[in-house]
Amino acid sequence: MDFLKLSNLLFPGIKESPEYYEEKYPPRNLPEGAKVTRFAPSPTGFMHIGNIYSSFVDFLVAKPEGVFYLRIEDTDQKREVEGGIEKILSGLASLDIFPSEGPAFDGGETGAYGPYKQRGRCEIYRCFANELVKKGFAYPCFCTEEELGALRENQEKDGENPGYYGKWANCREMNFAAIENNIKNGRPYVLRLRSDGDENKKIVVEDLIKGKLEMPENTQDIVLLKTDGIPTYHFAHAVDDHLMRTTHVIRGDDWVSSLPIHIQLFRMLGFKPPKYAQYSNLMKMDGASKRKLSKRKDPEAAVSFYFEQGYPKESLIEYLLTIMNSNFEDWRRANRNEIIDRFPFALKKMSPSGALFDLAKLNDISKTVISLMPADEVYQNALNWAKEYDEELFALFSNDPDYAKAILAIDRDVPKPRKDIERWGQVKDYLSYFYESLFAPCRDLPENISKADADAIIKNYMEVYDESDGKEGWFNKIKSICGPLGFSPDVKEYKKNPESYKGHVGDVSSVIRAAATGRLNTPDLYEIMKLLGKDRLLKRLETFL
Ligand code: GLU
Repeated sequence: MDFLKLSNLLFPGIKESPEYYEEKYPPRNLPEGAKVTRFAPSPTGFMHIGNIYSSFVDFLVAKPEGVFYLRIEDTDQKREVEGGIEKILSGLASLDIFPSEGPAFDGGETGAYGPYKQRGRCEIYRCFANELVKKGFAYPCFCTEEELGALRENQEKDGENPGYYGKWANCREMNFAAIENNIKNGRPYVLRLRSDGDENKKIVVEDLIKGKLEMPENTQDIVLLKTDGIPTYHFAHAVDDHLMRTTHVIRGDDWVSSLPIHIQLFRMLGFKPPKYAQYSNLMKMDGASKRKLSKRKDPEAAVSFYFEQGYPKESLIEYLLTIMNSNFEDWRRANRNEIIDRFPFALKKMSPSGALFDLAKLNDISKTVISLMPADEVYQNALNWAKEYDEELFALFSNDPDYAKAILAIDRDVPKPRKDIERWGQVKDYLSYFYESLFAPCRDLPENISKADADAIIKNYMEVYDESDGKEGWFNKIKSICGPLGFSPDVKEYKKNPESYKGHVGDVSSVIRAAATGRLNTPDLYEIMKLLGKDRLLKRLETFL
């Protein structure tokens, strides 16, 4: 077969040579050891938390000196949705991940290694496909779906491995005249690799997460270009990651089984393969067993879930690092106030069997993160969140920012701040009793207090209450009503002789707390009462009675 003739037949009018592209996209001028990584999603409109997880890994590996870029894998038009790219960009931006090259929000692109959307790269794929044809490494295959179906059936019958390979590859040895004839008749065809693999030989890859991987060589004549000239993942991966000068391909381990194809393609194209780091899917406990975090079953699989619930990005980042590298928590304990950039992230510390995703742990981390934020920051974050997701809270917060900030400041700037809020979606409930429109009176009382005693406490307290009291005076007033009602003003004294009292000053405060806020558990009651002010407070105490 004259492969040059075949190349002219299949790829007439190729504009550029491989050398042209090699020169156009030269090896990157980066400091020694700098890494080039990429996030390569399909614009399906769904961002899985696993996508964020992996792009965060890409980002950490590339910085500070390398390049992390975004490539859109839009070769499957059926899966593409409008606005898919913006969703990806905003998902990344929500965690402060900004690729230094790739498609941008305005519809344009930045970077010298583009186009960054695969559909814009068809000329490039054609050029390299043509090179393979010229060398006899690729050929057109005209088999129809029916023919491929029949092939599968025959293989099954004979107990042979399925696929298009060796003697089963019908179009492999088609002669030029037949090919020419088919093309003249407009018969659709795919371009296949003429595999030179030997199943008795092995490829060996040192995966940076999984360690040494050994697998039989690929023998399948896999598809490189589909009938519409669009490349398969395999072919695009080799061409793009070579020309975009990716040094580290960090991807899900569902691709591990395709590694023999990829190693072979890089070799046949004359490219040096990148390093691979293939992480396992995020897992989740389901009863006693582990399973993949699933887009269908688990709402927390969607990145949008975290925006809607209002998790701060700081919490997500902290949490993702916790499940990414087992030593992160220890590092964090030893470096409480250190910025994340200082954490020595390591691919080889990623779990080869899949990190366990656990919302309870995220909530825990998030509580701490929020407890350490200044009130102004909590206010601003909650306001931003409410703007999009909670009109009522937004109105309350924007009508009186000082009041809101004062509420959020209670018990905050102290050595052991309270950990009440996990996410902005909980803020309204957290401070509802500060607003008349949200306040819900409640007659729950501490277990040891009768209704009659509670009423007596509130009545007596209303008589001694004075808005101008300082904290000490305020507390002394509460103590002063204890004795006459049969409560001990001193907790220690009560503990010595519990039989002599109905309860202690803490119980009395609890009743006042319940009447004033509708809750048994709140931050500092003195501060709360000061913010509520006399009118609102007395009204609530009356309502309570
Ligand atoms: N588009 C591929 C995916 O989403 C990219 C895999 C890779 O990173 O190479 O699975």
